[in-house]
Amino acid sequence: MADTATHGSQGSSNPWQGEILSSDRPYRMLIDGEFVEGEAGETLACEYPFTGETWGSFPVATVGDVDRAVRAARKAFDNGWSRTTASHRAALLRRLADLLEGTADDIARLEIHQNGKTLAETSFEVPYSQMVAHYSAGLIEADHGHTVNSMLPDVVAYTVREPLGVVVTITPWNGPLGSLAQKLFPALAAGNTVVVKPSEVTPAETLWLGEKIMEAGFPAGVVNIVNGPGATVGRALVAHPLVEHVSFTGSTATGLEIAQVCAARAATSSMELGGKSPNIVFDSADLDRAISGVMTGIFSASGQSCAAGSRILVQDSIGDDFFEALATRIRALRLGDPLDPATQISPVASRAQLAKVLGYIELAQKEGATTLVGGGRASAPGLTEGFFVEPTIFTGVTNDATVSREEIFGPVGAVIRFKDEDDAVRIANDTQYGLAAGIWTENVALAHRMTKRVHAGLVWVNNYRLGELVIPWGGYGATGGSREMGIEALRDYQGTKAIYIDLGSPLPF
Ligand code: NDP
Repeated sequence: MADTATHGSQGSSNPWQGEILSSDRPYRMLIDGEFVEGEAGETLACEYPFTGETWGSFPVATVGDVDRAVRAARKAFDNGWSRTTASHRAALLRRLADLLEGTADDIARLEIHQNGKTLAETSFEVPYSQMVAHYSAGLIEADHGHTVNSMLPDVVAYTVREPLGVVVTITPWNGPLGSLAQKLFPALAAGNTVVVKPSEVTPAETLWLGEKIMEAGFPAGVVNIVNGPGATVGRALVAHPLVEHVSFTGSTATGLEIAQVCAARAATSSMELGGKSPNIVFDSADLDRAISGVMTGIFSASGQSCAAGSRILVQDSIGDDFFEALATRIRALRLGDPLDPATQISPVASRAQLAKVLGYIELAQKEGATTLVGGGRASAPGLTEGFFVEPTIFTGVTNDATVSREEIFGPVGAVIRFKDEDDAVRIANDTQYGLAAGIWTENVALAHRMTKRVHAGLVWVNNYRLGELVIPWGGYGATGGSREMGIEALRDYQGTKAIYIDLGSPLPF
């Protein structure tokens, strides 16, 4: 493995140069238009995944702060935000997008110091968020209810779409700004007020965004940001009686808990949860491209992606040459400093995630999987302080093995062999999840049949992990069933109101 660590970030205890980032930059939560500390004065620090060093000081909310944030959001909703015009909200979102111009590099560095992802991954967070802001603005300007041809005499009937009230967004650490943008901007465009909670692993960009939101001119209370652990701050938000809707991205276990709490008081929720997605290689594939596709599926973001192609289904008729070529390509991957543009595999996001992934590797080995490549913590010089996991592929695995069933969220793929198309479909669909699937074949008819037969919300043919904001993202089953973005992006954040105007029909009393 060419895991030469480079040291572009030496001196990383003080990585913050430039206007946006400096080592003593204060980060504050945003409640009712004010930038505040937590009322108990508690803070938490971040850990740089490449070195294990801690840095920064981020305020932690109390349950009292959460209550103030939700009440501020409700007040802002009632005091006028919900009655602003769509074009006004669209203009604010566009202004915010403009204010993000020129920040992509700094924000990429900021994210890297929290979740350790590569420059290639993190550099896209700001441009993507800008696109989501513009797209959400366009959607709300083009949105409308409809007039129906009433079947009653003397009645005019129509529907309007309206905001729900206070929306809570809870986001994970693997794409902190992009996944927030996908929730926050459509929710604001639709006329809701929002309380945002980032992951405690990656609070920095979200708190920074709060400053840009106020600078763009959003009124006090329209966006509030509270920080802190899910177990306290997240739970208090979800349980708050004034919250109408919770939009969540994260693990299935946490998502199910949140959905139940919401349902118990008839609040709504939308869930973007986990996956165990099949990446299916037929013998009719361009096998060299399929190898790239397998690696893209499981090693992008060090496997920390809800859509990771973590079950690699390979047709029996494909010979051992394929695996030898795959192993050779994987051994050549460059592990190293995430700030180095040449790095392909960076550390996983946290010490906890490292322990979790290594635990699954050990379990797979205990359950009898054969290690094709990788299989432990990276040990090359320069990598030992960081949370590096070797890119790992197991073969000799069945679809019943733990490594085939549970979301690992690390650079660990399991190869499962299949006989023919029916067998591939059976294995692909034998999962509690239903987020994504990759299909590798040059046979057009087979590709089309597979797109219909695979039970997943996203299907890629001869690609893996493509995404764009005009196409909805989401899945079935334990993945949660919600869709983000696409033309439907606003719908989670709107209610439909039916309006009847009586033109003089007789009343029963
Ligand atoms: P969680 O799903 O627990 O966390 C996601 C978000 O939810 C974070 O902001 C977290 O806050 C918050 N949260 C946690 N518990 C609660 C709660 N009871 N009520 C309200 N909010 C809560 O994921 P973890 O970060 O703990 O990661 C654990 C595993 O989840 C990973 O190993 C991975 O397998 C999976 N995961 C999947 C993701 C996906 O996109 N599919 C994304 C992230 C994780 P905080 O972090 O501050 O505690």
